[in-house]
Amino acid sequence: MPSRTDSPLQVAIIGAGLGGLAAAVSLRRQGHNVTVYERYDFAGEVGASLSAASNGSRFLEEWGVDVKAAKPVILKQLIMHDWSDGKVQSTYPLGDYKSKFGTDYNNFHRIDIHKQLLKSAFEEEGEGPQCVLEVKCKAIDVNPEEGLIRFENGSQASADLIVAADGIRSLVRENMGITPNFTMSTSCCYRCIISADKLRSLELEDYISNEAIEYWGGFGINKIVMSPCSNGEVVSCYCFYPASYNNLRDDGWNISASPQQLVDTFPDLDPRMRKLMLNADDIKMWRLYRHDPYPYWVKGKVCLLGDAAHPMMPDQSQGSCMAFEDAGAIGLVFNKDFRKNYGVAEGLSLYEKLRKPRASRVQEASFRAREDLSERIGWSFSSDRPGKLTIEEVCGYNMREHLAQLVEEAVQPGSA
Ligand SMILES: Cc1cc2nc3c(=O)[nH]c(=O)nc-3n(C[C@H](O)[C@H](O)[C@H](O)COP(=O)(O)OP(=O)(O)OC[C@H]3O[C@@H](n4cnc5c(N)ncnc54)[C@H](O)[C@@H]3O)c2cc1C
Repeated sequence: MPSRTDSPLQVAIIGAGLGGLAAAVSLRRQGHNVTVYERYDFAGEVGASLSAASNGSRFLEEWGVDVKAAKPVILKQLIMHDWSDGKVQSTYPLGDYKSKFGTDYNNFHRIDIHKQLLKSAFEEEGEGPQCVLEVKCKAIDVNPEEGLIRFENGSQASADLIVAADGIRSLVRENMGITPNFTMSTSCCYRCIISADKLRSLELEDYISNEAIEYWGGFGINKIVMSPCSNGEVVSCYCFYPASYNNLRDDGWNISASPQQLVDTFPDLDPRMRKLMLNADDIKMWRLYRHDPYPYWVKGKVCLLGDAAHPMMPDQSQGSCMAFEDAGAIGLVFNKDFRKNYGVAEGLSLYEKLRKPRASRVQEASFRAREDLSERIGWSFSSDRPGKLTIEEVCGYNMREHLAQLVEEAVQPGSA
């Protein structure tokens, strides 16, 4: 018999990145009691720009997250530059984006949107019970069947539902018996930021006023992706280069590099972009990994969410959007009335059915876009390449309809 009670769920979320926080907000709004456990204390939060296309922004708006306070730049176009002289080769105007897909194409600084999600989850104001945050609480062992978590500090917790949002190197995933099949990518990436004031002094102010994602390269490993965020006060760049260049092996988001190291990696690049690089701040580098889709996302009382479920190459700019979609899904599946239709185990199975095929498709398309920009949504159409992931498929997705269809199939006699 499925477990059916009338009380809200006790939910434990492991990881307070964008995915875990979004899940906390989404579940809080359905009346559940949510505790989020994070191994760090946010003192060293880092990151650069993250674009939230409408499939992610739609949920932020629906949850009442103060999107404006996260200081987005609303993207108006994609621009392609010649690698060596910077001349504009083509543009893709996003003109009617909002009327077509329902929200703006927001470009945030990761820290700004993280801060707003923290508020939406943990401040008293807002729908549903205020979530509880436990920092310096590193999960070291999870028992999926019992719903038990042990922490490094010696404490323990139990929950009706455990959401593992503990990132690409998820420990909970291991506890669920999943061994990732992954390979080191042939690409590494630097990211850096630069202030609008500096850009003005360097006569590069068009990089802010274009309100665009701008590309250099992208056919082969080398690619620069630049975009403004934080109300146009900051511009951030992702600079992809062959891993063989420095054979970076360390893990994490916090490995520093110097401006000279950055610029030396791209000797034949557009001189204006090299000027930006020489003046850039907060330069970090990381190695990319390709993970194959995992065999399952759910075990006992636990489900994976965000990068823990589907780490992907950054080349579709969909990593955080997919995490927001996962969070939207977990709230829709465990809505206030879910028990009229199913119990927790069936709900988790629905969540997996709803999310895994779509996220896996975006994960695959992100890999294809790593060395082929024309695979990136917006740059070409499905008529050019049958089966290609399109902007309509990604941004125009209606999760409610998809879920209703799955629920209907699940209750039809004879259905699996
Ligand atoms: C510090 C940082 C900087 C980033 N910078 C960028 C960037 O500049 N550009 C970009 O595109 N993407 C960046 N990302 C990735 C991007 O945020 C994610 O791809 C996306 O938002 C999905 O996030 P997630 O919540 O699933 O995973 P993550 O953002 O990785 O969050 C996972 C969280 O779980 C916590 N955690 C891990 N293990 C445990 C444990 N055992 N117990 C408790 N807590 C645990 C981590 O500390 C982290 O807070 C960054 C991520 C991080 C953590």
